[in-house]
Amino acid sequence: MEWIDLRSDTITNPTPEMWAAMANAEVGDDVYGEDPSVNKLEALAAERMGQEAGLFVPSGTMGNLAAVLTYCGRGDEIILGDHSHTFLYEAGGVSALGGVHPHTIPNQHDGTLDLGDIETAIRPNNIHFPITRLVILENTHNRSGGVPLSVEYVCQVAELANKYDLRLHIDGARIFNAAVALGIEARKLAEPADSVTFCLSKSLCAPVGSVLCGSRDFIAQARRIRKQLGGGMRQAGVLAAAGIIALENMIDRLAEDHARARRLAAGLNELPNIILDTPEPLTNMIFFDLNPNAELDAAGLVASVAKEGIKLTPSGARRIRLVLHYWIDDAAVNRTLDAFRRVLGNV
Ligand SMILES: *Cc1c(COP(=O)(O)O)cnc(C)c1O
Repeated sequence: MEWIDLRSDTITNPTPEMWAAMANAEVGDDVYGEDPSVNKLEALAAERMGQEAGLFVPSGTMGNLAAVLTYCGRGDEIILGDHSHTFLYEAGGVSALGGVHPHTIPNQHDGTLDLGDIETAIRPNNIHFPITRLVILENTHNRSGGVPLSVEYVCQVAELANKYDLRLHIDGARIFNAAVALGIEARKLAEPADSVTFCLSKSLCAPVGSVLCGSRDFIAQARRIRKQLGGGMRQAGVLAAAGIIALENMIDRLAEDHARARRLAAGLNELPNIILDTPEPLTNMIFFDLNPNAELDAAGLVASVAKEGIKLTPSGARRIRLVLHYWIDDAAVNRTLDAFRRVLGNV
């Protein structure tokens, strides 16, 4: 049985074109700055983000951490959402490794941080308080349903940060999904920020890696932090070669994932006991809750559809997230809907 894996877009294996590019990659020692494939990827990434320079890092987590450690010293404070990936899912790295104090404020349903909340969270100059250095936004916002934040909103936060001499970092793990959903170039979403991290290894299908982008000075400092964190890689061009394909050929097709997400959501919406966050998801994620009166909980549903060849993970006791990606085609969407109909149709 061929598995249909809807747990995440991180599970995407490389495309045949990526395997070929990796096999033939030109490489060198990237810690010496001598890997032509890494250098090409970093330049391409910076150009796509409207920033001066890029830094290839092993993961999105390291990209965000390197950004925070570049901006902040011990005891400094960052403002971020209480549902942000950096706060929830990065193992507390900013605190554990940087002694940085996270100041969380509520993420709104649309993934934004309220401008008034941000302004209230900024610390006045007073010896009782830590020093606020940084605001972090996430685009698309994962836990809020993979929703894209608009250019207008990002510009408003950038302006506010600027007014208080704070930096703005964007965790843009899926910023290309946001850009495609909004019908704009990703640089429009990234340019207003001081720095941005995006993932090559998610919906863009590359096997490993993210790129942190920002000013030339910022990236020079972040490069030292990456070395400190053990992220200085040698013949990393083998990986960067897949990343180049990701940026050159895998962005526009994200619209297909979004269309399939809408079709899958529309089908799920007709089934009993499924309460979708939205019947029309904007990018590649679908979130739903199971009706509190339904017999099945999330673990039960995951176990039942696993028998039909479908991999899911619960994201709460009665909550499920499904993620569309390159390896889910129309036939896989149909098979998924059939399996859900069999499992939920007679609950
Ligand atoms: C996946 C993800 C990251 C981190 O990426 P890893 O490569 O898994 O470390 C950061 N932010 C968001 C929003 C993500 O979804």
